[in-house]
Amino acid sequence: MLKREDLDELIPPSEAAYDVIVAGGGPAGIGAALAAALNGARTLLLEARSFFGGVATVAPWMPMNRLLLDDERRGGVHDLFVDRIRAYGAEASLPGRTNMIDGDGLNIHPDYLQLVTFELLEAQQCHYRLYSPVTDVTMAGDAVRGVVARSKRGLQCFTAAVVVDATGDGDVAAAAGAEMVQGREEDGRSMPVSLVFALSNVDVERFLGYLAHKRHAFDALLDTAFEEGFAVAAWYSFNRGTVPDVLGVNNGAFRTIGNIDGLEASHLTVAQRMGIQVAVDFVRLARAKSIPGLEACALMRVGADVGVRDTRRLVGEYVLTVEDARNGTEFDDVVARKYGAIDANQLYIGEMVSGFAYPYRSLLPKRIDNLLVAGRCGSATFLGHAAGKSMGNMMALGQAAGTAAALCSTEAVTPRKLDVGHLQAVLRRMGARL
Ligand SMILES: Cc1cc2nc3c(=O)[nH]c(=O)nc-3n(C[C@H](O)[C@H](O)[C@H](O)COP(=O)(O)OP(=O)(O)OC[C@H]3O[C@@H](n4cnc5c(N)ncnc54)[C@H](O)[C@@H]3O)c2cc1C
Repeated sequence: MLKREDLDELIPPSEAAYDVIVAGGGPAGIGAALAAALNGARTLLLEARSFFGGVATVAPWMPMNRLLLDDERRGGVHDLFVDRIRAYGAEASLPGRTNMIDGDGLNIHPDYLQLVTFELLEAQQCHYRLYSPVTDVTMAGDAVRGVVARSKRGLQCFTAAVVVDATGDGDVAAAAGAEMVQGREEDGRSMPVSLVFALSNVDVERFLGYLAHKRHAFDALLDTAFEEGFAVAAWYSFNRGTVPDVLGVNNGAFRTIGNIDGLEASHLTVAQRMGIQVAVDFVRLARAKSIPGLEACALMRVGADVGVRDTRRLVGEYVLTVEDARNGTEFDDVVARKYGAIDANQLYIGEMVSGFAYPYRSLLPKRIDNLLVAGRCGSATFLGHAAGKSMGNMMALGQAAGTAAALCSTEAVTPRKLDVGHLQAVLRRMGARL
């Protein structure tokens, strides 16, 4: 039975010292925190929002792609996660689409995702705290010594041997002075943002059947609706909900929105305002045009926030490129593999060697010590990141960073000095595919 005292043990009320601190509890941060705790590190996961899961929880009924590989288990933290969510049955998760971009994954109920993350962290005695944005770091010279988290009561400093930045935005690395870049190299443009929404009262099978056979007609209908004045997104994709008659609607934001910088509050406010309109107008147009299966649909909820696909990226010891993805470059210091396709959400979509190697050096900032950077803010070019950016892959990067951080702490070495051969052996023992 859940007891307040047990939770109090795991949720630090005040400043404390850890072996490993992970900032950001999205797919990469969950992977990192679990892996660090599994490897014996006293670990704290700090999350800015009121929930774990990152984009997968922000957006109602998001498929977490590449948690599995061709229906096979991926090993490591992926298996822990998949087993735990599957234990809650079809209401918690359903198999997602299988194609070049999506591969195998699970459509997840965002609230079960929250619950399962708590359970997994608790099973490893991993400390955690929500409502705790990391706003700064403490440093000794070029070495990170801890992070500063903000709450309504003020600022608190948590120290650690190693910090993993899994904030997606590279907030910790940027605060530590690591070199960062943002956007597409040629024009600074970011991938589209999305205010994802969910519809209820949908005849899901009928709608998906219509879409499979009449996608052109559907797209033409949206063009007409746009000309008629409806707020229409650049693109839509649809995900089966795990509860009856519910459909998740991913989309490419309002057609004429222009570039949105996910670090700018003013831009995000524009995206939120337009996103609400896109969601409401989709319901209006679906009913007005009697789209099969959506004739009586209703807006259930928009996502908790605008979903942001890319902001800051680390310029680390190695910057992963799209050529690495296309050529399947092998690295001696491989610590994870990225599966799928290059998917910059309509800015570029293309094929790559599925399962290409991710090197340890792409987790490692130049110059700054005691810091590893995992997930979408890891060290890659714009398309290098877009190659296999799905959540299962981000979890694998987190697993590598969390394991490395734990080893650094027990062996009292900095991440730069870590024996990567040893890290690889530990990752393999955990079941990771290298
Ligand atoms: C709209 C949208 C749709 C997508 N669709 C899919 C899909 O269908 N399937 C798929 O597999 N992938 C999809 N992706 C891609 C995938 O979601 C991301 O690549 C992945 O979530 C990145 O994982 P992450 O953990 O690095 O970052 P995030 O998921 O962004 O998680 C970062 C976490 O850090 C927290 N955080 C941020 N700043 C701080 C801070 N300063 N302190 C503490 N915590 C902080 C955030 O609240 C968040 O929980 C989509 C992305 C978006 C935006």
